Amino acid sequence: MQNLLLTPIEYLKGVGPNRGELLRKELGIYKYQDLVNFFPNRYIDRTRYYKINELQNNIAEVQIIGKIINIKTVEFGRNQKRLVATFVDDTGQMELVWFQGHKWIRESLKLNEMCVIFGKCTSFGNAFNMAHPEIELMSEHEQSLRSAMQPVYPSTETLTNRGISNRVINKLMQQLFLETQALFTETLPDYLINDLKLIPKKAALFNIHFPKSAEVLAKAKFRLIFEELFFIQLQLITKNLIRKHKIKGHPFDKVGEHFNDFYLNHLPFQLTNAQKRVIKEIRTDMGSNAQMNRLLQGDVGSGKTIVAFMSMLLALDNGFQACLMAPTEILANQHFIGLSELAETLNINIRILTGSTKIAQRRIIHEELENGTLHILIGTHALLEDKVKFKNLGLAVIDEQHRFGVEQRSKLWKKNLIPPHVLVMTATPIPRTLAMSLYGDLDISVIDELPPGRKPIQTVHRFDSNRLKVWKFLRDEIALGRQIYIVYPLIQESEKMDFKDLMDGYESISRDFPLPQYSISILHGKMKPADKDAEMKRFSEGKTNIMVATTVIEVGVNVPNASVMIIESAERFGLSQLHQLRGRVGRGAEQSYCILMTSHKLSSDSKTRMETMVQTNDGFEIAEVDLKLRGPGDLMGTQQSGVLNLQIADLVRDRDTLGLARNYALKLLKEDAGMQKPEHAALRAVFVEMTKKKNIWNYIS
Ligand code: ADP
Ligand code: MG
Repeated sequence: MQNLLLTPIEYLKGVGPNRGELLRKELGIYKYQDLVNFFPNRYIDRTRYYKINELQNNIAEVQIIGKIINIKTVEFGRNQKRLVATFVDDTGQMELVWFQGHKWIRESLKLNEMCVIFGKCTSFGNAFNMAHPEIELMSEHEQSLRSAMQPVYPSTETLTNRGISNRVINKLMQQLFLETQALFTETLPDYLINDLKLIPKKAALFNIHFPKSAEVLAKAKFRLIFEELFFIQLQLITKNLIRKHKIKGHPFDKVGEHFNDFYLNHLPFQLTNAQKRVIKEIRTDMGSNAQMNRLLQGDVGSGKTIVAFMSMLLALDNGFQACLMAPTEILANQHFIGLSELAETLNINIRILTGSTKIAQRRIIHEELENGTLHILIGTHALLEDKVKFKNLGLAVIDEQHRFGVEQRSKLWKKNLIPPHVLVMTATPIPRTLAMSLYGDLDISVIDELPPGRKPIQTVHRFDSNRLKVWKFLRDEIALGRQIYIVYPLIQESEKMDFKDLMDGYESISRDFPLPQYSISILHGKMKPADKDAEMKRFSEGKTNIMVATTVIEVGVNVPNASVMIIESAERFGLSQLHQLRGRVGRGAEQSYCILMTSHKLSSDSKTRMETMVQTNDGFEIAEVDLKLRGPGDLMGTQQSGVLNLQIADLVRDRDTLGLARNYALKLLKEDAGMQKPEHAALRAVFVEMTKKKNIWNYIS
């Protein structure tokens, strides 16, 4: 049976070389088994027939019985033609339109014969038309399977234009089930099937394509979704186990002078329990023989920096170098200043390398790196340049990982024979379920506690029409000696307009908060790094009252005296970005505020975002809402969207199933890591096949 499923798709009756080529190119269907695993994305009721006079705009797809009474070719534009047919039933008439494939379609259309058309209707004035309908002669139609849940398969324009309609896919699917007699082998072990009351593989596949009832369809879906997620988890967990066993790391077995001296004598504050726990996790991990690959999640302000610093000290204590890579120059600078302060009393050589580091300075850095006298290097992407060669890099810390692609992460690896331990820090909390599937091969540490004494930030939503009141509030805060951020959106596509908004805003704020009483800083992406730094410095030294900025300041900036964050056009920001921005305040002892300014016109998603921000300060809760609103692809940035290429599961919708699948996978691998037990033979076969495809392995770490 397995062999039959590996038959190239063109051998299926009704496919042939041409269609075979299309199926491969457009849908990635190479073999019988790819077609079986090509699932509908929805189902429609084909037992319902519409009359032409019942049509309304925006009903999804409809089917209508009638006949074509006239066909003509209509020219429009230059050299453009379309084929238009008049279709009638006993209640009226409409047009069927084709923009492509004229010859072929014209030949296949039959005049004055009863047929069923199927497709999407749009109206022009009073008349309706249907573009590229599926047409079936009544005589054929009566023979074909019809049900209240007819599958609709994903398609592409090319496929539609080349005549591979949904109906064709349907027929091929029937043919496939005929040829293979649906003898699909069970992949999951019996105990799992019993435990979860899953329907057999065969029944699931049959019903996903030809559902007998809504009830079985639901069971079929559950079974297939579980299976898909289960196999992904098996792969991710196995990969993690292999990494732990096979990829040797530098064992940091010593806790030495630097760490102990700092811990005992120079801690600037008491660590929170969460920080202690996480440091311990990291220590244990780096102390083993395996390479650490760890994601450190902690909300903004939760104190990740000191955790990173102490981890670096462990590297130094064991005779290794460490580096910290940040996404922006500002942030790299801030880390440099912060870590230099922490290291003040220790005898450590720390330097910074960014795009704007002068050549002379670079030379020193390169030299010291190679002879090992440089202990900690902080920087931006510049760290990835070929010239940057560490003598013995033991730990790479990557801050705000969502800004770095996976490729870049692995670039650091390539520099050393034995890879350094990697600690990825992120303040964009990823819901655990999602983290598990995207970073299933990373271990995760979470700082789930803020340092004591922080007052929760108060967040309010105000409309532009309330601006006078908001401005009055700002004057009061400034009078109390506090500082203020005012942030404008900056979205790549409309950068010019955004820039204008920012400048207009800056001007009007300058008018409302005039010199000499008030002074204002401005910070945006078009400034030279040196100017940015100078401006940031003025603000952080308290020389200016207001910082007008774009999202440049989103990441990491730390000015404890700033107590108000105004976000302009807040409706244009995503939730996680809003939360990041808000995290710039609330870093000192004073009560802080975040004011979300929007226009009155808000979409329902925007409303939800504002409400969520007002209701909670909890980054994880916010991430959950974000995930629901945007879907996981978006949440991770386009870079990672679609990485999993899921056939049927949806990480947002099926997160509970994901958790379930993960637990079962963990349990299974704990008991039978190599899947060697006889009851896991089928499972292993599928697993091996999947692993060969490799796609899962490429995007992670
Ligand atoms: P983030 O996790 O956002 O990177 P930081 O490491 O920048 O947070 O820490 C935020 C602020 O909290 C810094 O000013 C830091 O000095 C302070 N901080 C960190 N840990 C503690 C602690 N345990 N007690 C008091 N303050 C702390
Ligand atoms: Mg930080």
